[in-house]
Amino acid sequence: MKFLRLLFFTFFSLTLFSSPIIVLYGKPGAGKGTVGAYLSDKLHLKRISSGEFLLAEIDRGTPLGREVKEKLEGGEIIPDDMICSVFFSYFEKEGYLNGCILDGFPRTVNQAKLLDQRACDCDITVIHLEVTDQEVLNRIAGRWMCKDCKYPYHEKNNPPVVALTCDHCRGELYRRHDDCQSSIKRRLEVYKEVTEPILLYYGQQRVNHIDGQKEIKEVCNEVLQTLQ
Ligand SMILES: [Zn+2]
Repeated sequence: MKFLRLLFFTFFSLTLFSSPIIVLYGKPGAGKGTVGAYLSDKLHLKRISSGEFLLAEIDRGTPLGREVKEKLEGGEIIPDDMICSVFFSYFEKEGYLNGCILDGFPRTVNQAKLLDQRACDCDITVIHLEVTDQEVLNRIAGRWMCKDCKYPYHEKNNPPVVALTCDHCRGELYRRHDDCQSSIKRRLEVYKEVTEPILLYYGQQRVNHIDGQKEIKEVCNEVLQTLQ
């Protein structure tokens, strides 16, 4: 009887308190960073981007972090198992299993499967920000950044008052080296090959498609409405 009661209680705690994990998905330049920051603020959930958790592990100098660093420096691809080990240790240490927003993870179907196994008590919702390749090219090709204070500009949407000069600190503006047309096209190809199958894996039940071409404020509101 005691055991049954315990089982009943455990079942209900898991069902009632299953934590939301929101996976932000979309091409480079689709607006994941902006939407992620907005959701984190509105829903009081922590946001992790794949780049940040890898850097955190490297900074902590763990054996795994050192291995990742070696591979990155050698230009090697980091295997899924290694990415997931790093990610899950970070995930659990920071208490992210209680709910979070993921940006840039999972990046492959295998990583998505491992996340499902690890976070089986969590409710995983995927937000797919849809933008055309042309829109990505327009957005990224127009990006500039201040060398000194890192403030972002866009030649059409958010130009500086004086050309090539930061409004805030008068620093010089530059383009990121991977923001050139050929590099963006390569990133779009990789996205289609490796990450697009994840949408198929998650299936219609878990994926919410949002029109990411609209004005960013409108996109943020629409995503929030979808989640509530
Ligand atoms: Zn500046």
